[in-house]
Amino acid sequence: MPLTLYNTLTRRKEIFEPLHPPLVGLYLCGPTVYNDAHLGNARGPIVFDVLTRYLRHLGHQVRYVRNITDVGHLQGDSDDGEDKLLRAARAQKLEPMQVAQHYTVRYREALTALNCLPPDIEPQASGHITEQITLIEEIMARGLAYESQGSVYFDVPKYQAEGLSYGRLSGRVVEELLAGTRAELAGQDEKRSPLDFALWKKAAPQHLMRWPSPWGEGFPGWHLECSAMSRKYLGASFDIHGGGLDLMFPHHECEIAQNEASATPGPGARVWLHNNMLTVNGQKMSKSVGNFITLSEMFQGRASALSQAYSPMTLRFFFLQAHYRSPVDLSDEALQAAGKGYRKLMNGLRLLDKMVASSQLLVDSETSANQQLTTNDEQLTTLAKKPLEFLDDDLNTPRAVAAVFDLLKRLNSLAASPAALAEVSPEALAEAAAAYRLVVTELLGLREEPRAQPEALLALALSFYQEAKTERAYDRVDQIRAALKSQGIVLKDTKTGVEWAYSEE
Ligand SMILES: [Zn+2]
Repeated sequence: MPLTLYNTLTRRKEIFEPLHPPLVGLYLCGPTVYNDAHLGNARGPIVFDVLTRYLRHLGHQVRYVRNITDVGHLQGDSDDGEDKLLRAARAQKLEPMQVAQHYTVRYREALTALNCLPPDIEPQASGHITEQITLIEEIMARGLAYESQGSVYFDVPKYQAEGLSYGRLSGRVVEELLAGTRAELAGQDEKRSPLDFALWKKAAPQHLMRWPSPWGEGFPGWHLECSAMSRKYLGASFDIHGGGLDLMFPHHECEIAQNEASATPGPGARVWLHNNMLTVNGQKMSKSVGNFITLSEMFQGRASALSQAYSPMTLRFFFLQAHYRSPVDLSDEALQAAGKGYRKLMNGLRLLDKMVASSQLLVDSETSANQQLTTNDEQLTTLAKKPLEFLDDDLNTPRAVAAVFDLLKRLNSLAASPAALAEVSPEALAEAAAAYRLVVTELLGLREEPRAQPEALLALALSFYQEAKTERAYDRVDQIRAALKSQGIVLKDTKTGVEWAYSEE
């Protein structure tokens, strides 16, 4: 079955075919680096990580671009608010780029902990001012943008008049949008229509982040960077653009309008993929409700809305248990269940190694061709193929995960019965084991995350050592000493007991 993806632009599932095989271009809207990423911010990168991993598994040569927004994203996503980054810089008395750097580093750390592979290109908006100015000039040359008091706005009514459709992605209707904004018309006299959006904003005298442009000193509008950078690194037409559902309008709608109004018209990406949102205990996450949880708060157990710390892999597995287009609700119960499921899958990895080895032994000793073999092999092979079939179906990770559990159940029952195991060929077993490992570690991107603390294990070893000494079991004493030494730890007997130190050899 070929890979199908739901395209927001066409509102249906489509068979995915790269525009320029074997290359596949992916663009995901990255973070605005003015604060720590919250739990909901991790969902898009995790979905896109699974997509990237799967496309690579299918043999595509993926170029994954995820930007860093360090300029132009204003409060309330409006054209008139204060720049989010500048506001944070002022509050913390820091240079704006210091704020951007700090949160960029923390964002990368959190995503690394979530085992998200780094993007191939991570462009910053502030590093692509020239490209953004060029794009504005292209749009102005088409007569679809105008200058007003040092700022430049996209002309939505004119765009509509040319038969292009503002609202085609989000399904918004221009007339309805207009009706909704009429009250806000006052004070927006720079714009010809309240639907027009900023491509370039004139910088007020105290505005720190500013660049020269043909229209005077200023800074780019938020939507512009994603058009400019996706075109630069993936071309005017590329394969997949992703982001959270909250970015569909106005951000992605404006991106499409900018792309269509450029010198190389087109929507930009052919497939627009949106992940749904996250709620916490049934409520939208917000600072005022007190359920706003950052990734580091969760990993360190500092979130007041949760009773304990949860590991990055628990969160990753939690997200994978829901389809990316469904809303998902996070709670202690849901995370605890996710933790159990994740650990069960990790234990499955351990089981596989044991089984493949023992199945080989069985064959060596019996070498019998069993009539049952073919049917059992077929059953196992069918189970092993299922997870990939579900990933093909619009990246249905919850069903893929359920199929992996079905496979694990079968493997567990084989492991429990040597007679049953003898009725499966080692080839089929090895194939099933490889499929399990592929889906769990390579495609779903779950990795081992030891829960045991090294200090606790060392304390345990020391107590065994003490016990052996008391019992005068010197063989065991030597064994423990040697085992710890191989780990770079030496034991010292003192009057008060035993102490450990790092080996200095
Ligand atoms: Zn974007």
